Amino acid sequence: MGLTIYLNGSYVDEEEAKVSVFDHGLLYGDGVFEGIRAYAGRVFRLPQHIERLYESAKSIMLDPGITEQEMSEVVLETLRRNNLNDAYIRLVVTRGKGDLGIDPEKCPRSTVFCIAASIQLYPEALYEQGLDVITAATQRNGVNTCNARIKSLNYLNSVLAKIEATLAGVSEAIFLTREGYVSECTGDNVFIVKKGVVITPPSYLGLLEGVTRNAVLELAAKLGYPADEAVFTRHDLYVADECFLTGTAAEMIPVVKVDGRIIGDGKPGPITRALLQELRQLAAVDGPEIFPAAAKATAPKGRGRAKK
Ligand code: PMP
Repeated sequence: MGLTIYLNGSYVDEEEAKVSVFDHGLLYGDGVFEGIRAYAGRVFRLPQHIERLYESAKSIMLDPGITEQEMSEVVLETLRRNNLNDAYIRLVVTRGKGDLGIDPEKCPRSTVFCIAASIQLYPEALYEQGLDVITAATQRNGVNTCNARIKSLNYLNSVLAKIEATLAGVSEAIFLTREGYVSECTGDNVFIVKKGVVITPPSYLGLLEGVTRNAVLELAAKLGYPADEAVFTRHDLYVADECFLTGTAAEMIPVVKVDGRIIGDGKPGPITRALLQELRQLAAVDGPEIFPAAAKATAPKGRGRAKK
């Protein structure tokens, strides 16, 4: 038996978790999603992820068909049914089944599914050594095209830049906007540190307002580092004292080289390290519990967490 998947109101084995070839999520990338992490029995920033999912859905006029509270419960219950305390969760709402035309009006019911799987952590050496990245020739979608603030299923813009990164032999690519401002990476937000100030581009440039990004901005303020959402260019990347990426899967990864320019002294910087430590501490205590203590204490014997 494989993973237990939530699909349109039921919990089913992964072998039975199938969607139609007429689903517009598949045919047109018409849908929205979230990538969420659970750490030590808690779902990190779950309300923030659910809020962003519903904002993405609202922006594309997609009705998930269940309330935000029900959606949160779907995430928690999927984790429970798979007996997971540490996990990566993929929550997806598509436009649903329609005809072969684009018109979303022809799709009467959205498709909702949730996958929770054990995580594959990035090797610790990456956090110690830092990444080598490039800036992509592919521009970030403009705010009036397919705004990346919407976490939509249409990731082709990111896929194209990821191909560039792979061809260049590095693991990430940083997008620039049409005007040449630094935007974000294919699946992470980007930060620089200059003279003690922690800086990340503002979301109005058309980048995903990362949950990890926002947590790091809060933690910077808590640790007393001035933090700013400001527009900057490739030049500012090259001459930064420190650079790092943030994302649900990666947490915080230091960047030590951009387009062949060594960042700082070529090693993960002290502010990056301090913020990563703080983020890991926050992850251990933030978010709703998957198996609340009261439920654990009152659960009848023989009805363990692994029940499917
Ligand atoms: N930008 C993009 C394009 C992403 O796909 C992601 C999520 N993987 C992020 C930024 C980081 O967002 P979060 O911290 O919410 O995972």
